[in-house]
Amino acid sequence: MNVLIINAGSSSLKYQLMDPETGVVSAKGLCERIGIDGRLNHNAHGEKVVKDIPMPTHSEAIAATLEILVDPVNGVIKSVDEIDAVGHRVLHGGMEFFDSCIINDEVIAAIEKCIPLGPLHNPANLMGIRACQAVMPTTPQVAVFDTAFHMTMPPKAYRYAIPTEYFKNDSLRRYGFHGTSHKYVAKRTAELVGKTAFKMVNCHLGNGSSMSAIKDGKCQDTTMGLTPLAGVPMGTRSGDIDAAVVQFICNKYGMNVDECLNMLNKKSGVLALSGNVSSDFRDLENGAKEGNADCALAREKFCYEVAKYVGAYAAAMNGIDVLTFTAGVGENDKGVRAAVCEYLGYLGVEIDPELNNCRGKEVKISTANSKVQVWIVPTNEELMIAQDTAELVKAAK
Ligand code: AMP
Repeated sequence: MNVLIINAGSSSLKYQLMDPETGVVSAKGLCERIGIDGRLNHNAHGEKVVKDIPMPTHSEAIAATLEILVDPVNGVIKSVDEIDAVGHRVLHGGMEFFDSCIINDEVIAAIEKCIPLGPLHNPANLMGIRACQAVMPTTPQVAVFDTAFHMTMPPKAYRYAIPTEYFKNDSLRRYGFHGTSHKYVAKRTAELVGKTAFKMVNCHLGNGSSMSAIKDGKCQDTTMGLTPLAGVPMGTRSGDIDAAVVQFICNKYGMNVDECLNMLNKKSGVLALSGNVSSDFRDLENGAKEGNADCALAREKFCYEVAKYVGAYAAAMNGIDVLTFTAGVGENDKGVRAAVCEYLGYLGVEIDPELNNCRGKEVKISTANSKVQVWIVPTNEELMIAQDTAELVKAAK
């Protein structure tokens, strides 16, 4: 089976052609500068092709993608008919979507209804969906939501302690993001530990970071909120702060709320803590080694906040059995993993420094004595999208 995975942004569109059973990716690429001029970056047969192709809208980007996929030299299929289904990544499913689903007119209307919650991403995701529908009208399309995995949270986890009307009228609540990654890691971890009933905390630590408390495969709580700004400090996002900080900054520096939020999303996090050295954890590690105290503080603060949330979720679930690390930092940065686990001795977490001395591998790094299994589980959001898509399309036949 061939599933085309589409991740449409406002001026870009990423694609992968994947076999959901094997996870093998036969081609992948990126259409960028949509609405400006247009460039296609395509990878297949171990080679990279870059072409300037006019892309006034997402429709031309999809057309260019399909054209190169069937190209006799750079392509991997003979005809577009060999694409069995399309899986679209959609940012915000609001309170409308608890799971992935086959796209029809009602689904499109419901994704539109969620635009106020995901004003930057949902319109772009819809453009990708509509462009695919136009050129592949008979191919089934599936929407996979970044928020859906978290919809099993109980009200005590997702409600904000603010007047009820904002929840009732405007659906303001904690949603959480990176759901496809958390779902993949939860599913894969169950296979790795050989059981389905257990309590885990997944640490998705990358440029954007979020953590989830997961019991028996179902999300109980997560660090991101109405938007991806909440939770632990990230590459450039502040994570949790007192909302009154916004009022103070706006009043003192003559900013409006949008400008202030832009600063909290794009100029904060470990980038800001490091004195603007970098948002990349490798640069921070090098900076710290060279004696830059701000770079050291950025990493220290990040690990401290991650460890605090593990403790909070251990309390919420009355203990944890498994702790997992995933995404760019979680998979690659042994120093971050070691520093986080160092805080968790009281839970019986013990990692083996030699096992932890690795990058990007699916491996258990806890000792035989550790009361909590600690694993690195590289995430694979595209595989999760392809699997959800294949499952739904097969069930509908
Ligand atoms: P992601 O958002 O999951 O793609 O993660 C990207 C982030 O992972 C980068 O900004 C780096 O901070 C971090 N990262 C990637 N590779 C490494 C590495 N080898 N060591 C430490 N951090 C890394």
